[in-house]
Amino acid sequence: MKKTWIDKDLCIGCMACVEIDESETLFMDEDGLAEAKENNLELKECQMVCPTSAVKIKE
Ligand code: SF4
Repeated sequence: MKKTWIDKDLCIGCMACVEIDESETLFMDEDGLAEAKENNLELKECQMVCPTSAVKIKE
């Protein structure tokens, strides 16, 4: 399961979330969109920098 996950329909591939993610949980996939590895993290800073609110955190 992924606690922090990416809504690909909203992602525009700006890379902001990946660049500030020190845990290296987020990465860019082959389509140029962000993707999350399996994780139990609340990557709130990544969520805050996303211009399209594509970084989601499960409650
Ligand atoms: S910050 Fe948002 S729009 Fe930019 S790559 Fe990450 S998820 Fe996609």
